[in-house]
Amino acid sequence: VQERIYNFSPGPATMPLSVLQQVQDELLCLPGSGCSIMEMSHRDKTFLDILHAAENGIRSLLNVSDDYAVLFLQGGARLQFSMIAANLLRGQSGKAQYLVTGSWGKSAVAEAVKEGPTEVIWDGKADNYNNIPSDADYSVDPSAAYLYYCSNETIQGVQFQTEPTAPQGVPLICDSSSDFLCRPVDIEKYGILYACAQKNAGPAGVTVTVIRKDLLERSQAELPGYLNYKNHADNDSEWNTPPTFAIYVLGKVLNWLRDDIGGLQAMQDVNREKAALLYDLIDQYPEFYIGHAAPGCRSLMNVTYKLPSDELQSAFLTQAAKHNLGSLKGHRSVGGIRASIYNAMPREGVAALADFMKDFVAQNG
Ligand code: PMP
Repeated sequence: VQERIYNFSPGPATMPLSVLQQVQDELLCLPGSGCSIMEMSHRDKTFLDILHAAENGIRSLLNVSDDYAVLFLQGGARLQFSMIAANLLRGQSGKAQYLVTGSWGKSAVAEAVKEGPTEVIWDGKADNYNNIPSDADYSVDPSAAYLYYCSNETIQGVQFQTEPTAPQGVPLICDSSSDFLCRPVDIEKYGILYACAQKNAGPAGVTVTVIRKDLLERSQAELPGYLNYKNHADNDSEWNTPPTFAIYVLGKVLNWLRDDIGGLQAMQDVNREKAALLYDLIDQYPEFYIGHAAPGCRSLMNVTYKLPSDELQSAFLTQAAKHNLGSLKGHRSVGGIRASIYNAMPREGVAALADFMKDFVAQNG
């Protein structure tokens, strides 16, 4: 444990230490079951209880009603790019409409066009994806098959502060992979909200898709079985073997959020405090720490900035590593620094980075 650094990886990302410790304690033998979670049938009652507890954990944290199914899927967030369009666009008369605020929205569009007519109704490219539109900046076709957006662009570090408004009858679809469970969400506004687990909710291997049940009627029987949401919903995520270990760990993260943190409002308060520690420095030294996101669009999860030169940037990364501050290099497509400060990053970790940044600018600014 002593060797653990503050890990700012964008995902898979830092986990709550107490969760890792519980997993360690139970790894060889899940109490009462005679074997490891990894050695047990997915139809075993012990696992079914774990699956249902994880589902209930999501339902209670996000206030998800019975009008929605909660699915535990594989294939990561990227498979959702395809599944959403395959299930909700194929066979529909309306177009899919997309807001593109960064790299992941763009990748989602690239998959949707394979399934049917797809239109980008807002694209932040001209400003190098440093901002987020408001409702007045685009118009959604009232007969669209759905309106899609990514609530937090992990690479650029821009986040919607509130969800876009979809016209009555147009399902709103959200990729919440990198800000899942970071704040309260009004789930009733969504047709689908989904997230891969490996940033804010657990290990890689499971993706949570919350889908309004009436949308399941759009899924066509001709779809490959795994790609059909209805199969997963009708079989309570046991159409095939779900990623049992990942779901088990996810369940523990949900308990941590509920019991140790106190739910999503408390989590948002902590996340705001943590993010402010870094954004305050970006505001204080705007010519040295050059923030990427426009101030009203800053992400609570991925703080992106550049230093005045490549030399300073590499010195920053090398010295940060010596202070046990790791994985701060920005995505290869945009460069710079990216501090991913997901739910499980402790306040002390962000404070340590802020202290390091103060010292670094004092010495090099
Ligand atoms: N969407 C967002 C917002 C992401 O951050 C990522 C992963 N970095 C993905 C989608 C793709 O996720 P996966 O690798 O699980 O397919």
